This record gives sequence, C-alpha cells and structure tokens, in this order.
Amino acid sequence: MKKLICIVCPIGCHLEIDAQHNVTGNRCKRGIGYAIEEVTRPTRMVTTTVRLLSQEHPRLSVKTSKPLPKEAIFRLMAALESLTVNPPVYMHQVIMRDFEGLGVDIIATRTIPG
Ligand code: SF4
Repeated sequence: MKKLICIVCPIGCHLEIDAQHNVTGNRCKRGIGYAIEEVTRPTRMVTTTVRLLSQEHPRLSVKTSKPLPKEAIFRLMAALESLTVNPPVYMHQVIMRDFEGLGVDIIATRTIPG
C-alpha cells in the first residue's frame, strides 16, 4: 500500500493505492488516474531558468510544455545548464524542442527584447 497526496486539484485528497492498483481516498475519478500514473510512470512539470546573453537579464525563465517523466528531470536540468539563449526571446517561444524524443518542449515564459 502506498500513500500519496493527489496534486491534480487544490483539494489534495490523501490517496492510498495497493499492488493491484486499487485506489481509495479520492473524491473524484481523476485521483484514480493520478495515483496509477504516479506509481507506474510519474511525471512532473519543470520550471527553471537558462542562461541568457543579456547584461540586463542574465537568466530566462522557462518551463516544460507538458509533464516530463521524473527520471528524465536531472538529464533535462543538465542539458539546460549548458544552454545559452540569445535575445530577443518571446513568451511561448520554443527554446528546446522534443527533449530526448519525449515529446516535451522547453518554452520561454517571458519576453526579453533584443
Ligand atoms: S482526487 Fe479529485 S478531488 Fe481529490 S485532489 Fe484529486 S482531483 Fe481533486
């Protein structure tokens, strides 16, 4: 039996899931999907910054376009650490496309003029 807190909505139900993937503690069906995914293939949205070639704005805030498998997060952070972006950059611009073929892009979350 594994205990989880559902992060799908702000209610934060306290879930339990057993080895047969029976889920209890959920107030709605979305909690079942979350619990099963969390024990079989956990994913997370990633927000971070990358180096920007700008004296005024040395870092650019970025995020993943969708949740990334948790086991790939450290590899993504390493890849982003070696990345430098040249302005101008526009909000929602793709900074890195399809990381490791996982279908997850890295996108800018703000505009930095050139
Ligand atoms: S189980 Fe449903 S109600 Fe409970 S936190 Fe998850 S999404 Fe929200």
